[in-house]
Amino acid sequence: MDLDLKVVEAENNSGAKRDCVIEEMSARLGVRAERGRKFATLTSLRVGGAIDWVVSPESEEAAASVIHALNEAGIAWRVLGAGSNVLADDHEHRYVVVNMREVKGAAAFEGERVSVSAGFSLPRLCVEAARRGLAGIEGLGGIPGTGGGALWMNAGAYGQEIGTVVETVRVAREGKVVEVPGGEVQWNYRHTSFREGELLLGATLRLSADEPEKIKERMEEAKRKRMTTQPHGSRSAGCFFKNPPGTDLSTGKMIDELGLKGARRGGAVVSPVHANFIVTEGAGATAADALALAEEIRERIRRERGIELEYEVELWSSGRARAEDFKTPPDETCDPKIEAQEKGDAAV
Ligand SMILES: Cc1cc2nc3c(=O)[nH]c(=O)nc-3n(C[C@H](O)[C@H](O)[C@H](O)COP(=O)(O)OP(=O)(O)OC[C@H]3O[C@@H](n4cnc5c(N)ncnc54)[C@H](O)[C@@H]3O)c2cc1C
Repeated sequence: MDLDLKVVEAENNSGAKRDCVIEEMSARLGVRAERGRKFATLTSLRVGGAIDWVVSPESEEAAASVIHALNEAGIAWRVLGAGSNVLADDHEHRYVVVNMREVKGAAAFEGERVSVSAGFSLPRLCVEAARRGLAGIEGLGGIPGTGGGALWMNAGAYGQEIGTVVETVRVAREGKVVEVPGGEVQWNYRHTSFREGELLLGATLRLSADEPEKIKERMEEAKRKRMTTQPHGSRSAGCFFKNPPGTDLSTGKMIDELGLKGARRGGAVVSPVHANFIVTEGAGATAADALALAEEIRERIRRERGIELEYEVELWSSGRARAEDFKTPPDETCDPKIEAQEKGDAAV
């Protein structure tokens, strides 16, 4: 038998064993486990390849048990909320995706505190808090996704960040739900001290009382700003890159100044509305298109501004992406002529 065949056989064997463990775990814990899902249906960019297994617990306790069982069996997993900050490559992802969207329950309000599970929608939470006259998260109302995703990367907008109002976070440890004080977590710009492999189950937030009308006004103002400065109704993952830390530079402005708005690579386009948004278009769009366009942008900013852009979007690799997926053909779509043609500017 040649070496390649042996490798494939070994992979299939370990795959079959893993399937049994997942099926047994799903039956024992009463948790849905599905095959045949794709990142293209689970992420807001609507691209990305097949997923080996998607497991969807419906309670914090079940989610903690799921990852404990997977850890015990040595099965690799990743956790997904609403998929609004993830770009997964187009290949087959041979790990379990723990889908937290069903771990939502209801938001439990008590005085100025609210306890929510990780799968609860962040925009919905902001609306419910505002209705009750609770301030502190009204600026976050337009951030799509779950509470868990927001906590993981300290989501923020219009001067507010979720980390500043967290009293405690519930995390999964050894199959149990454990409460961690918010003060023990480092809440940085779109980054926290939570470790890879840590599952966030929910949180208690401490908000502050204010007049519902005033909170509503601030929410409306944030919404108006978002509607005028960002593409809406498009397939995106929000800002693709972070602003350069320690500076007051805006990445969107820098990309715009390079004339890259509207630049296209296959089905991926630099949004003409906000240059730090890459949007995907059409049924044929791929993650490779979005990655290639993103790498073109990074290369231009590196060359012309001497700045190394950091991704804000998370890139999930199947471990099978080919080098070509990341390569930039020389000046292909960043050529101003091609760009102009794409915009339909016949004068150039
Ligand atoms: C149109 C648009 C506008 C946006 N505007 C903003 C903005 O203004 N500010 C901003 O901060 N973001 C913004 N984003 C990005 C995104 O909405 C946020 O990052 C959001 O908090 C992600 O939540 P999610 O549930 O979709 O997480 P996902 O995209 O599913 O996951 C993101 C990361 O969080 C991890 N994660 C998710 N849930 C858990 C959990 N329960 N436990 C452990 N890890 C978890 C995932 O593993 C992944 O690493 C925008 C996105 C879009 C599409």
